[in-house]
Amino acid sequence: MTETRSFQAQTKKLLDLMIHSIYAHKDVFLRELVSNASDAIDKVRFDALTNPGLGGDQDWKIKLVPDKALRTLTIRDNGCGMSYEEVVENIGTIAKSGSESFSERLRSSGATAGAPDLIGQFGVGFYSAFMVARKVVLETQKYGEDHAVRWESTGDGTYTIARTAPRDRGTEVTLWLRDKEAPAPAEDGAEADTDADVRWNDEDYTDVWTLRRVVKKYSDFIAFPIAMDKETWEYDRDDDGKIKEGGEHQRKFEEEVLNSQKALWTRAPASIDKAEHEAFYRQITRDWTPPGETVHFHAEGTHSFTALLYVPEKAPFDLFSREPRRGLQLYIKRVFIAEDVRELLPEHLRFVKGLVDSADLPLNVSRETVQHDKLIGLIRKQVARKLTAHLKDVLEKDRPRYERLWAEFGSCIKEGFHYDPTGKDKLADLILVRTTGNDGWSTWKEVASRCREGQTTIPYLTGESREVLQQAPQLEAFRGKGVEVVLLHEPVDEIMVGGLDKVEGKELKSAARGDVEGLPDAAATQAAVDDAAKKFEVLLQKLQEVLADDVKAVRISQRLTDSAVCLVADVDGPSAHYERMMHAMGQGMPASKKILELNGEHAAIAAMAELAEKDKDGVRFREFAEMLLDQALLAEGAPLKNPARFAQRVAQAMARAI
Ligand code: ADP
Ligand code: MG
Repeated sequence: MTETRSFQAQTKKLLDLMIHSIYAHKDVFLRELVSNASDAIDKVRFDALTNPGLGGDQDWKIKLVPDKALRTLTIRDNGCGMSYEEVVENIGTIAKSGSESFSERLRSSGATAGAPDLIGQFGVGFYSAFMVARKVVLETQKYGEDHAVRWESTGDGTYTIARTAPRDRGTEVTLWLRDKEAPAPAEDGAEADTDADVRWNDEDYTDVWTLRRVVKKYSDFIAFPIAMDKETWEYDRDDDGKIKEGGEHQRKFEEEVLNSQKALWTRAPASIDKAEHEAFYRQITRDWTPPGETVHFHAEGTHSFTALLYVPEKAPFDLFSREPRRGLQLYIKRVFIAEDVRELLPEHLRFVKGLVDSADLPLNVSRETVQHDKLIGLIRKQVARKLTAHLKDVLEKDRPRYERLWAEFGSCIKEGFHYDPTGKDKLADLILVRTTGNDGWSTWKEVASRCREGQTTIPYLTGESREVLQQAPQLEAFRGKGVEVVLLHEPVDEIMVGGLDKVEGKELKSAARGDVEGLPDAAATQAAVDDAAKKFEVLLQKLQEVLADDVKAVRISQRLTDSAVCLVADVDGPSAHYERMMHAMGQGMPASKKILELNGEHAAIAAMAELAEKDKDGVRFREFAEMLLDQALLAEGAPLKNPARFAQRVAQAMARAI
């Protein structure tokens, strides 16, 4: 019985995109179908490890059968096949959560050059068949089922599905190809039916040369033979071996294997050239840009494994989304076990792509037990160590290259201070930061080496953006003393400075928290502050009373040279930036009161001191005290309690002054 069903709405949308868009690289449809076939063989081969009934040593094969006359291309495998329910589930719907964002991306990228990379990433590979086919027929037999299943669709919103007579195990996908070129206009001058919605294929996918080229390009490393029948002739020859004219020549078919099936990682690292790595990388990642870094090593010892790792040139768009694709492929003695094994990579190196092939894990390990295996944990450690060492090497030998890499992945690498606190010293060597010292990037060690004589701390400041930080009043005195301040504006930076308390023996110290310590000429600065504190005793006292609800203390600052006031956090209180960040992440914490610091040299402070003595009822003093506080808040990009009131007061003050 043949059933007609509708595609799920989401699938329909996707199909429309496939059919109606022009792709720069339609060829990828074949890569997708071949990769599905290869996955299906992987699956059955894997299951056969524990279920000998499936036949362990089969003639695993993916077969391409082009038919020029019918204009069809068939892709056949002897993999796991699908049951009726599985066809409905896997082919009729898009279960993957990424499909929505895929459609979005496709739309926004105009479905041109960037699109093919996306197709595979989102697990919508099967539908790419509709880029080149006007009709797709899938016939499949699952092991142990007493019937086969036939699925058919023209991609127009519905598909049919039926149970059919049993056949050999595996799946056969037949594409009824669109023509290579649009048909010529009709003779009588009438408009030809070019159906604006249907795009024509640039290539003839029944052509053996085309198929050879496409397989070589995208599927060369597929572990199973991708074969095609090649037509040859067996000639009727005479005794001298000469072809007989008018003899009985026989047409013969010979199977030709199109891919090299080379498991690149098993070769000696030095024997692999750049082009081979690029092709392999493209195949496993679907990333069209060649990898930025390649790390390939064989580990021997208590556990042997091979890892082939790549750092992409560009960060994927989903690097910071909650459920990005990450992890490495896992092979055991060249048998593919699982995709995206997160446990093989530390979280902060999740942008790395590639694979691990273990010689020691038991072949019958299941995808679930992999996650708890101790050996996997050991491999992850070693992978992390190698990657860290490689990155350090790049940093030391090719700084511009490392800076490019840092710009892409630096925020991610810094997360290591959170995920792997024990590795923080090695990690610290990989970090690049911005400072007030120059426009470029510096390592922590470089910052330490530029410390002034007598400087025992390295000051840093966290905030919303580099621009806000550069203007921060808290930096004034540091500038004045020629002391470099590290400027940090990423959320993860708070975690980094929390984890890294010292660099080269110098303590990291927030420039906006507690006392200023460890700077040159500390004694002289302290003396000046003490003098000012005495001089402004009354003012400090009064401000403290008036602003008691908003600030924890009022004191003379060691940080200011130009601005009148700034806010600083208590020694052990969280920085203002950290609080705002937590707040923005919905992790509300009670706001801690800050300390208001005054610039003892500033005319406004001297004027305030006078006002404190003169203003008997205290109304104007309160007004200006609140204005001072508002200025300090504004300077660090913090919201004011009452912005409108502040604006009015500034206007009034202007009117009085002018
Ligand atoms: P993905 O391969 O990323 O899962 P596809 O759209 O390429 O997404 O395929 C969807 C699903 O259909 C696959 O996950 C698989 O379960 C099933 N499938 C596709 N082709 C085959 C095949 N040749 N043999 C068995 N199952 C297949
Ligand atoms: Mg697929």
